[in-house]
Amino acid sequence: MHPGESKKPVMERVIIIGSGPAGLTAAVYAARANLRPLVLAGGLYGGQLMLTTDVENYPGFPEGIMGPDLMIRFREQAERFGARIENVDVTAVDFVKHPLVVRTYDARFEAESVVVATGASAVWLDIPGEERLRGRGVSSCATCDGAFFRDKHIVVVGGGDSALEEALFLTRFGRRVTLIHRRDRLRASKIMSNRARSHEKIDFIWNTVVEEVLGEERVTGLRLRNVVDGKTSEVQADALFVAIGHTPNTGVFAGQLDLDERGYIASPDGSLTNVEGVFVAGDVNDHRYRQAVTAAGAGCRAAMDAEKYLEALEFKIENNRDRGPLPAVS
Ligand code: NAP
Repeated sequence: MHPGESKKPVMERVIIIGSGPAGLTAAVYAARANLRPLVLAGGLYGGQLMLTTDVENYPGFPEGIMGPDLMIRFREQAERFGARIENVDVTAVDFVKHPLVVRTYDARFEAESVVVATGASAVWLDIPGEERLRGRGVSSCATCDGAFFRDKHIVVVGGGDSALEEALFLTRFGRRVTLIHRRDRLRASKIMSNRARSHEKIDFIWNTVVEEVLGEERVTGLRLRNVVDGKTSEVQADALFVAIGHTPNTGVFAGQLDLDERGYIASPDGSLTNVEGVFVAGDVNDHRYRQAVTAAGAGCRAAMDAEKYLEALEFKIENNRDRGPLPAVS
């Protein structure tokens, strides 16, 4: 037990883990249902949109909105209806029996229901030099680090929307942006592909993977391999932005919730998980759509399911009050 755990925990009606569009939409709905949700937002509150620039496809913002500004609005809306938001990371959960237990570094919470909305994190290439030079030219966040590379040659790896979004954003700083993709066809949407392909500062290297990041104190170049003819080469580069997708943040749920073959939380039906009273929403359960708007919709659904579950639980308690002890909820 950690030092701060000595207090007797208050039984929460619903704890929401995560504070991206899914978690904070769940918070808005749960708060409006008078459940006073506790949101354990994570040390880095706001999710992936905090690392994004313009969001042009979130309905209701015809001029677009900056990712962090959108998340501030989500948060203010949830707080307006009584959600309590704490910027702490969840370190462990115990979903084996009720009440459900959620731990942070120095606290232990009990809850009747939990919404898991922990999202996903950037995947790295896992090549020599990448980790050593992280923060010294290697990054996964153009918004955070792009401005360090004014008038430099910047390389972006990946062929999806994220890679193109990063590449387009980085043209504000770099003298030249090179996108390296392992195939000869982009995975990204047409609109993003067309924008990148027609940008004068962006050039493409196809059918190529980065095998090593070169440099002592900072990135000076990359060793590449053409996957068609196997030839290796070196290119000068001042920065490498890796944008090759995401992995779900499910570490603390292993052994507690069923995961699918890719490690995402499995949901047999809508927001339901294999544990009664635990609901899931957003990118931690969705490798297909992964949009802010689909995550928000899933957050709404999870909060409504949690509310229904709590209603049914209350009904069960009322009806069993005079009939001896309650059966375990499992
Ligand atoms: P993604 O669509 O999964 O694309 C990942 C890219 O990285 C793919 O092109 C993949 O190559 C490449 N890749 C994966 N592993 C690699 C490796 N080890 N080495 C080299 N390349 C590798 O991921 P995403 O771009 O992060 O997008 C995720 C979702 O968010 C998508 O649904 C996307 O539409 C959405 N999104 C939308 C926007 C927007 O609308 N503005 C912005 C960002 C993201 P292959 O193509 O060969 O598989």
